[in-house]
Amino acid sequence: MTRLSSKHPRYVSLVTRARLAKAFRQGLVVPEGLIAHGRAEAFDYLLGERTPASARRAERLAVQWIRASRLPVISVNGNVAALAAEQIASMVRLEPRIAVEVNLYHRTPQRVAKILATLRRAGIPAPLGLRPTERIPRLPSDRARVDARGIGRADVVIVPLEDGDRTEALRAIGKRVISIDLNPLSRTSQKADLPIVDELTRALGHMAEDLRHPGRRTTPGDFQRADAPRLLRDAIRNINLRLTKAASARSPRP
Ligand code: ATP
Repeated sequence: MTRLSSKHPRYVSLVTRARLAKAFRQGLVVPEGLIAHGRAEAFDYLLGERTPASARRAERLAVQWIRASRLPVISVNGNVAALAAEQIASMVRLEPRIAVEVNLYHRTPQRVAKILATLRRAGIPAPLGLRPTERIPRLPSDRARVDARGIGRADVVIVPLEDGDRTEALRAIGKRVISIDLNPLSRTSQKADLPIVDELTRALGHMAEDLRHPGRRTTPGDFQRADAPRLLRDAIRNINLRLTKAASARSPRP
């Protein structure tokens, strides 16, 4: 593999790409996952590869929801395992009530086993998803298959890099859905109860940081209100502002 210089202006992005490419070669990530990552990179570029203040607010609120929840579950696909297993492991160490469940659109037993092994290696003791026991109604495809001890019973489901159909189907059966998706216009972001418009590893890293602090006493079921439309508006405004600035800073080449 080419050696990457940490002085390169796109170093983090290049390291992430190399990590995903390796995970693809190992059979953890599917080609479609690489393309989905490309879409996210473009949005992160527009955001300046930084967490905007409104996303940080959403991340704090997500931790409040985790604390107020009876059973919070993080749903994991190949990209999430390849990029963020460490951050998820930190969250589980700090809040052991969080369950972790593998859920895949392109599901094969081999891929599930590889993703579970990656999660265990990162320090997540008992990830679920090997033998789903239930189905989410009105959701065609293997994403409907869930574990009754995990997503089946959860009241809060964190869905990083999800698609809109599943978000909608989870909400239809009464789950509170927290999405992590850099695209504020995706159906997932638009449908989630609490959309976090931020890069996956930054978002989960911040949430782990917040879990380190005891926070306000929270009783089960006492969820603080999320203003999802406002969070999405803020994310879109942020992109708009950055583009407007860029457009006025540079005159077109002759
Ligand atoms: P929808 O059905 O919600 O409109 P979509 O068709 O865009 O979604 P996918 O193709 O499954 O859904 O893409 C997954 C989403 O995950 C994309 O919107 C992409 O922006 C986002 N995404 C991918 N990688 C990351 C990442 N590292 N951090 C944050 N978001 C990401």
